Amino acid sequence: MLDFLFGLFSHDLAIDLGTANTLVAIKDKGIVIREPSVVARHKKTKQILAVGPEAKRMMGKTPINIEALRPLRHGVISDFDATAAMLSYYIKLVHQRPQQFIPNIPRPKVVVGIPSGVTEVERRAVQEAAFDAGARSAYLIEEPMAAAIGAGLPIQESKGSLIVDIGGGTTEIAVISLGGIVVNRSIRVAGDELDQAVISFARLKHSLLVGEQTAEDVKIAIGSAFPLPEQNQTVVRGRDLESGLPKSIKFNTNEVREALANVVNHIVAGVKEVIEETPPEFIGDIMEQGITLAGGGSQLRGIDKLIAQEVRMPVWVSDDPQTAVVRGALRLLEDQELLKRVQVTGGLR
Ligand code: ADP
Ligand code: MG
Repeated sequence: MLDFLFGLFSHDLAIDLGTANTLVAIKDKGIVIREPSVVARHKKTKQILAVGPEAKRMMGKTPINIEALRPLRHGVISDFDATAAMLSYYIKLVHQRPQQFIPNIPRPKVVVGIPSGVTEVERRAVQEAAFDAGARSAYLIEEPMAAAIGAGLPIQESKGSLIVDIGGGTTEIAVISLGGIVVNRSIRVAGDELDQAVISFARLKHSLLVGEQTAEDVKIAIGSAFPLPEQNQTVVRGRDLESGLPKSIKFNTNEVREALANVVNHIVAGVKEVIEETPPEFIGDIMEQGITLAGGGSQLRGIDKLIAQEVRMPVWVSDDPQTAVVRGALRLLEDQELLKRVQVTGGLR
């Protein structure tokens, strides 16, 4: 009976600490949380006021004594305290609430996906934060590895798999074989930079001042990396640079693609560099299996086609690419054998 109750309330969990979005999945239940990685807090006391959507709504609208920030924005942990607060918030959200009613519930095992650029010191700190939030054991897995597992790649085989995870703050490119990362590159060019490119374009070409959210909306609505058969346009609202008054302008597919091209080319260059560094015996495997794309940014129209054309290898976007990392982390949580065989850091306290 007690075991049954414990089973109800003790949740081992997998977390994707993304630069743009945090996802949480629970053993046997799947994804339960999918929220923007944003924290709002008091500037002076650092007291946390909100996490997730509520904090995101505060972005750009905070009074002077409050700040709303993305703790991992640039792919490294740019604000450690905020990252720890966010991690702790989500662990407690899914785990600790019932503990108030039933004591002695086993503490959860946690698998956290972290950007591969995170330093050793930061890793230990993330692990400590998980322990402080009540975890019994905490394992850290690098996001490209988790994404590859989530995408269903044969990472344990001696074959080489190439995964490109295009997130908000970083693009992680890795070749994986025998459960380990063979070549790895993390570049700070991804979805956020694409949004910035839209902002610059609006300002320079149309004297229109637009915010980050509008820029992202434009990118998602009509953005592309490769010429599309269909032409589209979207109305963009902003402020006229000269008059300071509201102004609406139509952007079309081609001009937005041109605006994004520079940033997209950076991502392609990163993929090329990793291929150049890849030991030749893996190249045949990658040719055969294709390059796998994951992450929210891989949904930019035609980015698979462009990469395929540029590197002359097949490229495919994994199913539900934005959840690949958390699904990969969840598999590690559920499969003890797999956890032993892939490169992770951490363990029991
Ligand atoms: P992270 O892992 O860094 O948190 P995600 O994998 O959640 O990032 O991806 C977030 C990025 O994906 C954002 O920059 C967002 O604008 C972008 N994105 C989401 N959907 C689309 C889409 N349909 N087209 C282009 N970009 C998209
Ligand atoms: Mg990610």
